[in-house]
Amino acid sequence: MSGSVADNLARVRERVAKACASAGRPEASVTLVAVSKLKPAALIREAYAAGQRDFGENYAQELRDKAVELADLDGLRWHAIGALQTNKVKYVARVAHAFHALDRPEIAAELSKRREGASPLPCYVEVNLGAEDTKHGLAPEALGDFLVQVRALPNLQPVGLMALPPPTDDVARMREGFALLRELARAHALTALSMGTTHDFEQAIQEGATVVRVGTAIFGERP
Ligand SMILES: *Cc1c(COP(=O)(O)O)cnc(C)c1O
Repeated sequence: MSGSVADNLARVRERVAKACASAGRPEASVTLVAVSKLKPAALIREAYAAGQRDFGENYAQELRDKAVELADLDGLRWHAIGALQTNKVKYVARVAHAFHALDRPEIAAELSKRREGASPLPCYVEVNLGAEDTKHGLAPEALGDFLVQVRALPNLQPVGLMALPPPTDDVARMREGFALLRELARAHALTALSMGTTHDFEQAIQEGATVVRVGTAIFGERP
């Protein structure tokens, strides 16, 4: 992880390709989102120069500022991957290519309102697979009602589910969590799965991830 961003990216892409091959999936079925939160714009430029186009940011103001600073990079796609507060929705609603942490009706309503006039914003509903570990994400039982609300909004398009499972080094447990998310998505007629980070993206791909969100393995440890 001490190499250049371009070297790190090449290694991560190779691992994504291997995981796809071992799962019998085409490489194009997985989008690699490079999570650049807390990393300087200069490193995003390096990744872009190495062909990376999808970037993930957690914090609304940071995303807004980087989008301005990097507006010259054609075809760059911003993924907002962190929880939003209502008063910050305006910073990401129009600039984001997708939102990965939808878990509250008020945020959904505000996003739809602020998205007006643009194409519907693809959204992933965040599911809490770790129960007490985090307050983010919906309980699996709450998904049905929440999706009814989101699907009624004109400018959001719920496409899939997202999760950040509790950290574990037990590969079988990693895969169980990801498989559960896949089954929940299927049960709710959603096809996209945003799951897997530096620690576990290969297992996530094995279980059907369509988007993996990888930060540390590309940009190094965060401050
Ligand atoms: C920070 C973050 C990531 C990336 O984590 P790494 O361990 O650095 O790969 C992925 N998803 C979310 C929601 C994050 O907050």
